[in-house]
Amino acid sequence: MFEWFGRVSFVPHTKVSDFAKHLKDGSIMASTCGSCGFTTFPPRADCPQCRSGEFSYTEISGEGTILTYTKIEAAPAGFEDECPFTIGVVELAMGEGRSGRLLGWFGETIAEDEIEMDMPVQVVPRMFEELEEIKVYYSLEKPGTTWVKSNSTK
Ligand SMILES: [Zn+2]
Repeated sequence: MFEWFGRVSFVPHTKVSDFAKHLKDGSIMASTCGSCGFTTFPPRADCPQCRSGEFSYTEISGEGTILTYTKIEAAPAGFEDECPFTIGVVELAMGEGRSGRLLGWFGETIAEDEIEMDMPVQVVPRMFEELEEIKVYYSLEKPGTTWVKSNSTK
């Protein structure tokens, strides 16, 4: 899962490639099956419930709770400058029949000694803007944290 920290190159021709564009513009998208309505995050072009290949994007709030977390003291290659840092797995609050989890970095609004299991967080998509390619990562912030969204995509 470490590639979700943003050092991944999104393949531009997959069916869910717009997911990266939406994230770049500040919107977190789940996929909703066009056949059975199952909503899941990360988006899946092919429904895990009924195997339908029809889907549309549904924007999710990014609210969730901490399922587990860990402090990284020995950085993997490419992250030496960031170390130490704390990451967490978020159980996204998406409502009945919906599911999703993601891995993110704890952001500046949450002090290290405040981090605990089941704490509510707001997931905020962020970009490594100094890099040429789209490099997205998720920042875990206090509930109510807002961020600027671009309206350049539909
Ligand atoms: Zn389905």
